[in-house]
Amino acid sequence: MSLSFEEVKKLKENAEIKTQAFINGKYADSLDGDTFDKVSPIDGKVIAKIASCKQADVDLAVSAARQAYEKGVWSDITPEQRKNILYAFANLVEAHHMELATLETMDMGKPISNSIGEIRRCFNGIRWFAEAIDKLYGAVATTRPSINAQIVREPYGVVAAIIPWNYPLMMAVWKFAPALAAGNSVVLKPAEQSPLTLLRIAEFAKQAGIPDGVFNVVPGYGETAGQALALHMDVDKITFTGSSEVGKLIMQYSGLSNMKRVSLECGGKCPNIVFPDAYDLDDVAKQTAGAMFYNSGQVCDSPTRLLIHKSIKESFLKKLIEYSKEYMPKNPLDPACSMGSVVTGEQMERILNYIEIGKAEGAKLKMGGKQVLCESGGYYVEPTIFSDVNNNMRIAQEEIFGPVLSVIEFETEEEAIEIANDSIYGLCAFVWTSDLKKAVSLSKKLKCGKILINSTGDGDWSVPHGGFKQSGFGRDKSIESIEQYTQTKLTWIEL
Ligand code: NAP
Ligand code: MG
Repeated sequence: MSLSFEEVKKLKENAEIKTQAFINGKYADSLDGDTFDKVSPIDGKVIAKIASCKQADVDLAVSAARQAYEKGVWSDITPEQRKNILYAFANLVEAHHMELATLETMDMGKPISNSIGEIRRCFNGIRWFAEAIDKLYGAVATTRPSINAQIVREPYGVVAAIIPWNYPLMMAVWKFAPALAAGNSVVLKPAEQSPLTLLRIAEFAKQAGIPDGVFNVVPGYGETAGQALALHMDVDKITFTGSSEVGKLIMQYSGLSNMKRVSLECGGKCPNIVFPDAYDLDDVAKQTAGAMFYNSGQVCDSPTRLLIHKSIKESFLKKLIEYSKEYMPKNPLDPACSMGSVVTGEQMERILNYIEIGKAEGAKLKMGGKQVLCESGGYYVEPTIFSDVNNNMRIAQEEIFGPVLSVIEFETEEEAIEIANDSIYGLCAFVWTSDLKKAVSLSKKLKCGKILINSTGDGDWSVPHGGFKQSGFGRDKSIESIEQYTQTKLTWIEL
């Protein structure tokens, strides 16, 4: 869908900004009336004052979710009814495709063209999980003949989801679509940096027929709304996407409260291993730049560590720098933009600080490194590439979550594997080679939840996403994610 800059500006003027929480089927201020400023990273201006939910608001939302669950208004309707309602929900999201894409861009600064693609994935994702509802089966165990032993999957009840800011609506869909498909009620906390799209679609959930109390959104800070959900005695399951640091806190909160079930999608520092026998090094350079600078590098599975074979290092770097120039930041509302701002001023400072750390550690700055478009008032950082990085450096070990690439050279396959696995994270690894045997061998030896061979994207809903090690546990997307929102129950019958 091609839009002009003028058309996007008009969409921005007409986009509906919801500022209140959505609890028990109604928009409402926080009980204490408190709000926080929603600043757009495009120009640093406050665009809304959003309800700042605390413990009391979370209590209301959880209690509404519990009552709806126990009454069976969602969990006990037929699978076909749940499916039809989720379809209607997806249709409403689709009907507001461009408005939602504009809100997403205003909220966190990603290019409008990317937001349009991501919102499409959101409504398609809701449909995917709606479609799965009546295609899941339980089991009957092989027992002695006088027994009937059935194993069925039941929803947990109340599922809380804590969402990050990098894909605000998509990360929410990854969680609420399978949780709702399974029959749970949900309470969602968007990141305080990016609540607009999730708050906007809450009313579509209601219009589509999702009963009051089944779909709740409580915007607020992590330390207040988020912590209250994670410590809540009546939340049965918590699903989190965000930093490993906060992920560890979520595990503690579970242990300190009711042992609620936990799944975590946390950080990454993903190796992107390029061998000289890759099918087309020019295309690999192009795809590497595209994946690295997508969403300003604020992606958990960005290929942030380029492991390049020594023999092709210089020629590959040259190509990569050329392709990376296409990602010089622009106003993200401009359809010609391929890299927008970063999410906040704070995040920009963090990224610029890592760039200073890289220089001080002795890495060679080959490209970028600076804040740009300062006159806009927004937060823009150039695509940045460091070469001669040693894997022990902080810029190779720590998640920067910005447009900063670390280039590390290797000589042998074994060395590449060792460097790739030398990380506290284990989310994703990329491998570029035309040698099938090598590709399969690496995929077995790399310690992460996802291996992409000759590819930068696994956008399909049918495949699981999640990590090893401190990248978390549990899986989003695919049937595996529905299983994550259910528990098995055995019924043993003596006939
Ligand atoms: P974050 O700071 O960990 O925050 C994630 C969410 O947790 C936000 O909603 C945040 O609320 C909330 N939170 C913060 N402190 C909390 C606490 N004490 N108790 C409960 N909730 C709390 O992460 P982020 O800065 O939003 O996102 C970037 C991180 O997410 C990166 O590390 C990235 O790798 C990771 N990520 C991972 C995946 C994946 O699938 N593996 C996907 C996307 C992002 P507030 O920020 O509103 O205070
Ligand atoms: Mg945060």
